[in-house]
Amino acid sequence: MAVSDHVDFPTFMEGVKKRNPGQDEFVQAVQEVAEDIFDFIADKEEYHAQQILRRIAEPDRVVSFRVCWEDDAGNIRVQRGWRVQNNNAIGPYKGGIRFHPSVTESVLKFLAFEQTFKNALTGLPMGGGKGGSNFNPKGKSVREIMRFCQSFMTELYRHIGADVDVPAGDIGVGGREIGFMFGQYKRITNEFTGVLTGKGLEWGGSLIRTEATGYGAVYFLANMLAAKGQDLVGKTAVISGSGNVATHAAEKIVQLGGKVLTLSDSGGFIHDPDGITQDKIDWVKAHKTHRRGRIEDYCDEFKGASFTAGKTPWGVPCDVALPCATQNELLGEDAKTLVANGCIAVSEGANMPTNLEGVHHFKHAKIMFAPGKAANAGGVAVSGLEMSQNSGRRSWSEAELQQMLKDIMDGIHKSCLTYGDQGNGYIDYVKGANIAGFKKVADAMLAFGVV
Ligand code: GLU
Repeated sequence: MAVSDHVDFPTFMEGVKKRNPGQDEFVQAVQEVAEDIFDFIADKEEYHAQQILRRIAEPDRVVSFRVCWEDDAGNIRVQRGWRVQNNNAIGPYKGGIRFHPSVTESVLKFLAFEQTFKNALTGLPMGGGKGGSNFNPKGKSVREIMRFCQSFMTELYRHIGADVDVPAGDIGVGGREIGFMFGQYKRITNEFTGVLTGKGLEWGGSLIRTEATGYGAVYFLANMLAAKGQDLVGKTAVISGSGNVATHAAEKIVQLGGKVLTLSDSGGFIHDPDGITQDKIDWVKAHKTHRRGRIEDYCDEFKGASFTAGKTPWGVPCDVALPCATQNELLGEDAKTLVANGCIAVSEGANMPTNLEGVHHFKHAKIMFAPGKAANAGGVAVSGLEMSQNSGRRSWSEAELQQMLKDIMDGIHKSCLTYGDQGNGYIDYVKGANIAGFKKVADAMLAFGVV
């Protein structure tokens, strides 16, 4: 008789905390999943006997390395780089690279863990990974960013490959950085392969990859509303962030007839009661991406808008909310405020933007709440489609890709219903996403035996 791990939930979480000291974000992500999985596997002896949850919560590998580079003034700078390869049970490791001063091993472990379930939910053959560095791109020249990317890839290249691990962008890493890293990979290996996604269209990239995360989060939101016989027409939306995810989420809300009230950055948020229309979104995109400007400048450009420094936008009354900035940006109190102000649905464009208290509050209030691993999977889904196009040496049209993205988001919504429909009119999307993602990875792991 196999020894099973029929420990209770608190004992399991104690173990996770003990094995990962000081890694609060990782512990938080594991807890959010384990809360649902414990119920699901209660009567499934094989998952216990094979210690599946324990194994998924232990990354396959964490690679940590030194990244040296020279700044424009000739100073030698040293950063730390990582690649966390969490799980490749259903496909090559897949997940973005983040450059931000807040990056730690804990942050990347949480992101790689989440990515494992997110990627499984897309239905595409992708495992979960994440990488990055505590490098701060803010204020750096283009040459400095290029030198940093080249140095980062000079170590990373030996750990990745089109059938091994396929990184992409994330916070601080966009098309420009992917270009510098792809160029360095190609230079070192002398291979032109689909080793990164988010590439430029001329060199193996996919149409709609840029738009996919934000659009997907709104498609998911529209699906949740449709399940209740509603749509976005005339609904007010509060959005945080002003990067790629936030601006494309805003764009899709506007296209579907909604009114976007806010956007934000690390300095604070802008509130435009007249609505952030497409031309205003275009201005924000240009201002943040090309001019690397601050969101508060919006108020000089568009009268009637106000800027609130040092605050998140969750106090602005709205029908729907989309946190699209970063982890733990929406806290318990914010969740309470949103619900009290009449918010009926939340779709997470960022990864784990709502903290545990906030998630518990949304669940308790029984509003429609889509966790990032379901709602923001559109980005990595189109990355998966980019991988397919690279392998097949072909490219699909924009219309084909738009349809595939929509179909994938519909599919994720359906998977969430399978395990999240509580039968009393309430759909627990967190539970639905956790169980559907877990089951796929867990069943593959069972097939491989003890590895
Ligand atoms: N960084 C994105 C995410 O969090 C995209 C990852 C990818 O395309 O591999 O899902």
